[in-house]
Amino acid sequence: MWFLDILRCPDCGHDVGGAQEALRCSGCQRSFPLRHGQLDLRASPSGSATVTLRAAPSTAVWPPESAPPDGAYRGPLRERTNARHLSILATREGRLDVLDWGCGSAQYRPLVQDELGHRYLGIDIAGDDADVLADAHRLPFQSAAFDHAITNAVLAHLTNPFLAVAELARVLKPGGVFSGSAAFLEPYCPSWRTYFHPSPDGIVHLLTTAGLRVDGLWAQEGWTVFDSLAAIPGPISGPTRWVLRRLSVLERAVGRRRLHPRNIARGGWLRAKQPEEIRRELLAITGQVDFLASKPG
Ligand SMILES: [Zn+2]
Repeated sequence: MWFLDILRCPDCGHDVGGAQEALRCSGCQRSFPLRHGQLDLRASPSGSATVTLRAAPSTAVWPPESAPPDGAYRGPLRERTNARHLSILATREGRLDVLDWGCGSAQYRPLVQDELGHRYLGIDIAGDDADVLADAHRLPFQSAAFDHAITNAVLAHLTNPFLAVAELARVLKPGGVFSGSAAFLEPYCPSWRTYFHPSPDGIVHLLTTAGLRVDGLWAQEGWTVFDSLAAIPGPISGPTRWVLRRLSVLERAVGRRRLHPRNIARGGWLRAKQPEEIRRELLAITGQVDFLASKPG
């Protein structure tokens, strides 16, 4: 366990030390169990955390770039891993300490650890696959502990995204990178519960409120609202799912042309759109917003 020396108590913030089988907080003396190779560092239910928020209206400004270059990562992929986010990781120098924020079944672990040669730490609130059980609102890590954080469809499950993103920003090193995906036009998830599905503006506001700089913002490839309605279980019938999948393909195919009937009269029929216009329109109908952010050095 390479991460024993960056642990801190999720309740009182003091260092956590000792052997991995007998970890104890140096402040409140709480002990943290190791079960089947997994550390339980979840915060006490009775505890609380605070975050200072600006009351000013959002000044969310989208970064000018669209998706960063893809293709730097050439290794295998798994069902819930994203090649572009692995490429972002692959383009960084050196051996990095990587936090998988809400890792679920930890599908990024072999790719980050074995394919890219970084140190990996997956956290989640429950499940058998995380290295550490932790609450994203009160992370059990010292400040500036990680070089890089990745996430896949976690933000919507958090009850207080402002607090959780501020915590993530705290544990990133200056110059560290936070890259991932957040549900936007996906249906509510009854099995794991979802609380907030932020729009692109909401994502930018959350990240910048936490002191992070947004370096990229784009619609996840192949995952429009039609894809999410077709794929995610719900009361939508088979024939409707079939239509939704084809609508999604059609939208992407014609989306580079101005096809709205009102444009015929204006002479804009079949006018090719500018890349920025296409990007904004795709972000308006995306199932998940992908982002790239960094902590100023
Ligand atoms: Zn403590």
